[in-house]
Amino acid sequence: MDKVLVSSCLLGQPVRYDGKTQTLRHPLISQLIAQQRVVSFCPEVAGGLPIPREPAEIVESRIVTNNGVDVSAEFARGAKLALAQCQANNIRFALLKESSPSCGRNTIYDGTHSGRKVTGMGWTAQLLEQNGIRVFSEEQLPVLNKVLG
Ligand code: SF4
Repeated sequence: MDKVLVSSCLLGQPVRYDGKTQTLRHPLISQLIAQQRVVSFCPEVAGGLPIPREPAEIVESRIVTNNGVDVSAEFARGAKLALAQCQANNIRFALLKESSPSCGRNTIYDGTHSGRKVTGMGWTAQLLEQNGIRVFSEEQLPVLNKVLG
């Protein structure tokens, strides 16, 4: 049975920039955990960023914190490590947290740190999709359920 890479914050791990979780309670998650099909991953922590950390947003081809620090290298490293994790586990599907500059599948914040969202993908979501791994957000659980079969 297919394993799924899942954003650690959705699994209740306090890895978000603010040190909190974003726990997703859903029967599909419980089922995947029970079947030992979940591989938990946080690209930002894997890429070397601390918890907590300053919020960051994508600004053109860079990722910058609200204090103007360029954290592109850490985000890029996290994305590469996420891909490596998928490849090591033959993972073809990922469930990632919407709107994150790493994990966002369909939306991201607009780069002005003003809370506005625009259409776009986080760097990890983008790299996974470019390498044939299908990425779904927590808003697309019924579709993920269908493709997992
Ligand atoms: Fe969650 Fe992804 Fe942000 Fe880590 S990088 S806290 S897994 S949304």
